[in-house]
Amino acid sequence: MSLCELEEKTSWHLFLDSVRERSSPSEFENWFSHIKLVEAKAEGIILEVPNIFVREYLLDNYKKDLGEFLPKLANGEPAIEFQIKEPKKKAEAAPPTPAQTKDGLPLNHLYTFDNFIEGPSNQFVKSAAVGVATRPGKTYNPLFIHGGVGLGKTHLLHGIGHYIKTHQKKLRIQCITTEAFINDLVDNLRNKSVDRMKRFYRNLDILLVDDIQFLQNRLNFEEEFCNTFEALINQNKQIVITSDKPPSLLKLSERMIARMEWGLVANIGIPDLETRVAIIQHKAEQKGLTLDNEVAFFIAEHIYNNVRQIEGAINKLLAYFKLIKLKLTKDIVEKILAEMLQKNPQRKVSVEDILKSISAIYEIKISDLKGETRTKEIAFARQVAMFLAKEMVDDSLQKIAASFGGKTHSTLLHAHKKISQELQENELLARQIQMARRNIETG
Ligand code: ADP
Ligand code: MG
Repeated sequence: MSLCELEEKTSWHLFLDSVRERSSPSEFENWFSHIKLVEAKAEGIILEVPNIFVREYLLDNYKKDLGEFLPKLANGEPAIEFQIKEPKKKAEAAPPTPAQTKDGLPLNHLYTFDNFIEGPSNQFVKSAAVGVATRPGKTYNPLFIHGGVGLGKTHLLHGIGHYIKTHQKKLRIQCITTEAFINDLVDNLRNKSVDRMKRFYRNLDILLVDDIQFLQNRLNFEEEFCNTFEALINQNKQIVITSDKPPSLLKLSERMIARMEWGLVANIGIPDLETRVAIIQHKAEQKGLTLDNEVAFFIAEHIYNNVRQIEGAINKLLAYFKLIKLKLTKDIVEKILAEMLQKNPQRKVSVEDILKSISAIYEIKISDLKGETRTKEIAFARQVAMFLAKEMVDDSLQKIAASFGGKTHSTLLHAHKKISQELQENELLARQIQMARRNIETG
């Protein structure tokens, strides 16, 4: 070893010494114990790191210090070449029998991938979940799933758990709610057994954490969670997190948010109508309830932003059906579910219904309402019809506008705006529109 090499090696170790003085033992252990100095030359050093996260961590947090200790490139960056460590072979890593805490598993047996109905709103996140389950630690890490209440986050999290439990029995997996993690920590602090808990978590292969938003405003626990997180990530152990918001909107430390954004952040959205129908049919079938397509559509149209509520509706129908044994027609379903339905179930209104009614009220031919004539009376009646169409017809603006003899959606918007303004001052118009509405609604 030349003198020069020796010097550089010392520089790296001097850098490490300076870091050790400033950081907590767990931070140092989590990040720096996994870095290996491969080669040190006058021009720069080669480091072996377990994954890109360690490289990012080092450059994000210590670039300036590295610059002080190590040689620099022409552009001022520290002269470090990174090598990613080859993953260990399976046999070497054979873990001991799984250990679980009382607060971890079991998983909900219904929350499997097979029971998860896909649609455009959740396809992406579902395939990310399948990817993680088939190759834990090797694709996205962490996988961060966020979305509103009752949209299937916990379902997918448990789905990953089920898949791994059946296909890779030896892996140690822990599925835990954030609340349970905090409680676990509190218990262990009380019993002075935190080290045991730390060991347990840091020896996991997969950590599934539900509802990370509960870590907000729990400062003491956030740090411990973050340490656990880093320890796992740095050994390429898989982490999956669910949340009701994306990382950037969580009130957590920058450190924690940055960690969660490292992997894949995937949103789970509200399922569209067809997907809701499929979910309804699937859930009904599971419970031994037969629903006509018409009924399934009816429920899907009236409960739309929460799958858990859809499930509640089906449970209610099931209870009713067991009691009364009457065929579940749309009318009966409407009565049973009255309180749960989100929109007042209304007759579907078409543009034709509106044209008919406006034609009668203003005594103007439908063909004129659809035409191009710009006389004041006709143009005004046409705008009223467009106003009502936008308010009452459940369709895209393009399609509604097209039904007016091929007008554009900006004409429709313009008409809607104009009539909305006029309604404020014109009482007669307000009454006419109210009358038309009633007319149209009752058919
Ligand atoms: P979240 O955790 O997002 O609040 P859950 O995962 O608890 O929601 O889902 C609520 C209920 O809705 C569960 O019973 C779940 O099985 C069901 N669910 C949600 N999305 C789907 C889907 N795409 N297919 C089947 N069931 C679903
Ligand atoms: Mg949940």
